[in-house]
Amino acid sequence: MEPPHLHVFFFPFMSPGHLIPMVDRARLFAIHGVKSTIITTPLNLSRFRSIIDRHNCSSDYVPIDLHVLDLPFSAAGLPENCENLDSLPSRLMSYNFSKAIMMLRPPSSDLVRRHRPDAIISDLNLPWTAEIAREHGIPRIVFNGGCCFSLSVIDGVARHKPHENISSDTEPFLVPGLPDPVFITKSHMPERFFGNLGLHEFFKSFMEAERNTYGVVANTFYEIEPEYVEHYKKITGKKVWPVGPVSLCNKKALDMAERGNKASIDKERCLTWLDSKKPNSVLYVSFGSLCTFSQSQLLELGLGLEASNHSFIWVIRDHQELGFALKDFEERVRDRGLIIRGWAPQVLILNHEAVGGFMTHCGWNSVLESVSEGVPLITWPLFAEQFYNENFVLHRLRIGVGIGVQSGLAWGEEESSDVLMEKDQIAEAVTRLMSDGEIVEEMRKRANRLRDIARSAVEKGGSSHVSVGLLIEDLLNQREERLAREH
Ligand code: UDP
Repeated sequence: MEPPHLHVFFFPFMSPGHLIPMVDRARLFAIHGVKSTIITTPLNLSRFRSIIDRHNCSSDYVPIDLHVLDLPFSAAGLPENCENLDSLPSRLMSYNFSKAIMMLRPPSSDLVRRHRPDAIISDLNLPWTAEIAREHGIPRIVFNGGCCFSLSVIDGVARHKPHENISSDTEPFLVPGLPDPVFITKSHMPERFFGNLGLHEFFKSFMEAERNTYGVVANTFYEIEPEYVEHYKKITGKKVWPVGPVSLCNKKALDMAERGNKASIDKERCLTWLDSKKPNSVLYVSFGSLCTFSQSQLLELGLGLEASNHSFIWVIRDHQELGFALKDFEERVRDRGLIIRGWAPQVLILNHEAVGGFMTHCGWNSVLESVSEGVPLITWPLFAEQFYNENFVLHRLRIGVGIGVQSGLAWGEEESSDVLMEKDQIAEAVTRLMSDGEIVEEMRKRANRLRDIARSAVEKGGSSHVSVGLLIEDLLNQREERLAREH
C-alpha cells in the first residue's frame, strides 16, 4: 500500500506581504504531491479562496484543505472585521492585533491534535506555532519573509552592535562578519520604525521561537545570493531551503490578477491600457500593502510623475485621497497615467512587456516579483528591513536607481510626516530609469539575466524546485522516525 501523502499545516501571518507568499507556498507543496492545509480567518480566506478553488478543480494536484479560525477581536480590543494588518484603523492598534494573533494558539493546537499533520510551516510572527509543534512532536519550519542578505545584515547588527559607537544617524558604518563589506546607517535600522508601539516583547518571542525551529524556508533563489544563503545557514545553524520566487507558481492570468485580493481594476481594462503602450515605457508605482503617505508627499509624488513625462500606473491605497491640489491631475495625465485606487493586480502588471520600471518601497515580495519579470527598480524604502533590500538591489544586483531617501517613516506616523522627496527629485529618478541610455541598457540586461535564472530555478531540476523536493524528503524522513518512535 502507498504511504499517505505528507501532510503539512501552513500558518500564514495576517498581512498581505506574509499571507500571499504563504498561500503560493502551500500551492507549490500541493503541486509537489503534499497534502497542504492552510489555517486562517474568514476574511483572509476570502482574499485567496478563488485561487484555491481553481487549484482544487485540477486533477493534477493534491487538493488543498482550508481551516477557518475566528479572530478574537473584542477580547483583544480590536474593532470588528479587523483581520489583517492592512485593515487596522490605526497602526497604534498593532499591539492589539498581535494580542489577538497570540490568542489563536489554543484553537490552533486543537486543530493540530485532531488532524495530526506531519509538519508545520509557519510565519516568523506566529511564535506559538513552534511550541505547538514541540508539544506534538513534529517539526516546525519557519517562513521569514526577507531575503538571506537582509536577514544576515539584521543578524550582523544584533550580534556585533556596530551602531553603538556611532552618534550620527546618517554616518555609514560597516556591519562586521558578512561575506562582503556592507555599510548601513542608524536611520536604516528596522528597530527605528517600530519604537513606540509596545511590540518589543512580541519581537523577542519571534526570535526565541525561531531559535527553537527545525529549519527555514525562504522566498529567494540560490543563484541570486549564494554566499548569503550559505552565510545564513552558518549563523543560524539551521537548514535553509530557498524555494522562490514563489509568485511564479501563478501561471494563469486569472491567478495573477486575483493574487492576494480582488483587484480594484478590471483585468481586461488594465491589460488593454498596457497593450496600448510601447515595451518598457510604463513605470509601475506602488508602495506595497501597508505604506501610506502624507497628503503633501502624495502631492509631490503626483507632480513628480507628471513632470517626468513618462507613462505610469500609480497605485494609491483606497482610503487615501489625492486632495485638492491634484484634483484635475487625472485629467491632465489622462493619456499616460492610470491610477488604481485599492488593490492592484501587481504580478499581472509586472508581467506585461510595456512595464519597464517599478518604483517600490522595497518590500521583499515586490523586489522579487520585479526580478522575476526582469523589471528594474526605483528604490524608495520606507521602513522595516526595506533599506537593506534597497542596498541589495542597488549594490549587489545593480538593477535599480535609488531615489535618494535618507530615512524612513515611523510605523503609525506616515500620514502626518514631512515630505521625504520632492517633485523634482522624483521626476529626476524616473527620468534616469525610464530614459534610454547605456547605463539603463546594462541594467535591463542584468535584470533580464536574473529573470531567466529565477524562472529556471523554479522549473523541474532548477535550484528552488530541487530545494522543495529536498525539504519534502527531509520531512518524510522525520515522519518515519517519529512513527518508528511511536510504535
Ligand atoms: N500587492 C498586490 N497589489 C497591491 C499591493 C500589494 O498584489 O495593490 C502584493 C504584492 O504583489 C506583494 C505583496 O502584496 O506580493 C506586498 O508585499 P511586499 O513585501 O512587497 O510589501 P509589504 O506590503 O509587505 O510592505
